[in-house]
Amino acid sequence: MDDAELLYHSAHILLPQMGIEGVERLRAARVLLVGAGGLGTAAAVYLARSGIGRLTLADGDTVSRTNLPRQILYGEADVGMPKVTVAARALAHCSPGQIEVIDERLEGGALIEAVSAADLVCDASDNFATRFALNAACVRKRVPLVSAAVIRFEGQLLVVDPQTPQAGCYHCLYGGETPDDAQRCAESGILGPAAGTMGSLQALETVKMITGMGEPLRQGLFVFDGLTLTMHTIRRRRDPACPVCGPS
Ligand SMILES: [Zn+2]
Repeated sequence: MDDAELLYHSAHILLPQMGIEGVERLRAARVLLVGAGGLGTAAAVYLARSGIGRLTLADGDTVSRTNLPRQILYGEADVGMPKVTVAARALAHCSPGQIEVIDERLEGGALIEAVSAADLVCDASDNFATRFALNAACVRKRVPLVSAAVIRFEGQLLVVDPQTPQAGCYHCLYGGETPDDAQRCAESGILGPAAGTMGSLQALETVKMITGMGEPLRQGLFVFDGLTLTMHTIRRRRDPACPVCGPS
């Protein structure tokens, strides 16, 4: 790092758990962030500014006026534009690293390819089909997954790490059931700061996973309720019959 880079990262370097080594790990990291909505835009801001070497944003949606109260990288002038294009332009101003975009809803071979090219995947998507597909690809390719979800005032967060197989995967948690996919923001409502809180926590866990700081949520499910400002962590265990991460 040159002097300007050292100055940029100085507040992180001062953290004994991070130091120059942690900053270098962030600079070398390749992160795939799926979903550029309320969660994804909040996570992207902190991930980009933390100096992630290559941050790839994947989303096939365009900006709509209904997104603006919580999707913090977009404004009125961006309505109708592809989200990842607008997000990448905004992040380019504040990221020391490289921003790449995938302007489509990731699925099939493209999803596997994108996961394979990442050191870590952040799931900030808004549907269960994508969440299950990302989980399966991450387990298969042994890429750590930081998964976040938010609806109304509530959020949840978990880390699926190949280093802790005893905690299982996202599929273990839901037993293969796809809860009502109609439970989306458009139908159920969502509070902007709740999405921002969960997106920030997703970035926090991602930075911890990459740098090795602290204790990431490798074996827990973190549950947040913004209405009462309460949170708790449930211990996760692998489902021995899980078709995704089970022995078969
Ligand atoms: Zn599993």
